[in-house]
Amino acid sequence: MNSYDSERMSDLMIAAGHESVLTPEEANVVVLNTCSIRDKADEKVFSDLGRLKMIKEKSSGDFFIVVAGCMAQLRSRDIIRRAPYADAVLGPQNIQRIAEIIDDFVKNKELDTIVSTSFDVDDKFRKLSDKFSTRGVSEFLTIQEGCDNFCTYCVVPNTRGREFSRSVADIVKEAKNLVSLGVKEITLLGQNVNSYAGENAEGEKCNLAGLLFELAGVDGLRRLRYVTSNPKDVNKSIAEAHRDINILMPFLHLPVQSGSDAILRKMNRKYTRSEYVECVCMLREYCPRIAFSSDFIVGFPGETDADFDQTLKLAGEINYAQAYSFKYSPRPGTAAARMGDQIPENVKSERLAILQDLLNDQQSQFNQKFIDRRVSVLLVKEGKHENQLGGRSEYSQAVSVCIDDGEFAVGDIVDVRITEIASHSLIGIIEK
Ligand code: SF4
Repeated sequence: MNSYDSERMSDLMIAAGHESVLTPEEANVVVLNTCSIRDKADEKVFSDLGRLKMIKEKSSGDFFIVVAGCMAQLRSRDIIRRAPYADAVLGPQNIQRIAEIIDDFVKNKELDTIVSTSFDVDDKFRKLSDKFSTRGVSEFLTIQEGCDNFCTYCVVPNTRGREFSRSVADIVKEAKNLVSLGVKEITLLGQNVNSYAGENAEGEKCNLAGLLFELAGVDGLRRLRYVTSNPKDVNKSIAEAHRDINILMPFLHLPVQSGSDAILRKMNRKYTRSEYVECVCMLREYCPRIAFSSDFIVGFPGETDADFDQTLKLAGEINYAQAYSFKYSPRPGTAAARMGDQIPENVKSERLAILQDLLNDQQSQFNQKFIDRRVSVLLVKEGKHENQLGGRSEYSQAVSVCIDDGEFAVGDIVDVRITEIASHSLIGIIEK
């Protein structure tokens, strides 16, 4: 979602007459779009701000520093105290103000730090509409923001606010705009994407499946994905969409976080282990070639060896194509940070290593199945070597494709025979 917000801020700046440059030294405005999901990301911002301060001190012309995103929302006071040279602090629902704020600074150089951290998400999307600069072939499109779930470890409800869904018309219009710029694949974004409930043309609520069917009708759009789903909101209509929409990719990120019911309860995830498994089974029944990725948190407060064992068993049962796993990191202001029974770092590290071994094994076994198989690949970028392009399979695997000179280009969808499996990608040749 931060990638999407960064693109949209860039669109607004370009529409206001600015241009992008490659390094902070060449810039007059630097925007740090921050994340607050883990502690490390927060601290990195302060060290980046220190580097920008030095550039600002050396610069002879304008040099404005803007801190945007979730950390700006949560820690605006800290930012002003520790980095008083920052010119503006913008929460995630205030990024639409970027161009007007820079304009103010240019006209009136003595302005104090501007802090804008309201939750006017409707205003955000209204002001972002219709302004697009160039795009790649695979892009994000935010359809829903904020979250009402209050998982006990998560800062999102405090940083992005309560759930808000954009209207179907607004989303379809943005999708058409993207396609007209050459986009072939769109990934719909939402903190809780499958609780989407935007208004349709009849003024009624439309769910995610309804929206996916609408978008499947956009001419020229070749691939659709959506992220991130909360398992508690996956229903039959989503499974039917996977069965019936041929541009909807058979790959779903379905974060489970833990395989223990006791820990899921403490996390306030509102589903049980068996409900999660049922959900996966239903999707597999409707769309037998679907594969899953997931997120895991290890070392959540109170997690026992037996709880962790349940997580390993669940991962074994589902057999993921890919997964992201992290040690639990307490976030300020969340309920879990105040829970007793925090797990020591060394225990978290040991458990994470065990889980990651299992998940890496599953991923390589999943990839091995593709050897000598024909797969559909969207070419997304130039390759590392001559006569090579980089692409993505339907399952989001990186694929390096060997081509003859000028034969195919970025944006094409090609059939590729996989000849080799590298550590993080598949390698193949075009199959005509
Ligand atoms: S559903 Fe996702 S975004 Fe919402 S509180 Fe839980 S982890 Fe955070």
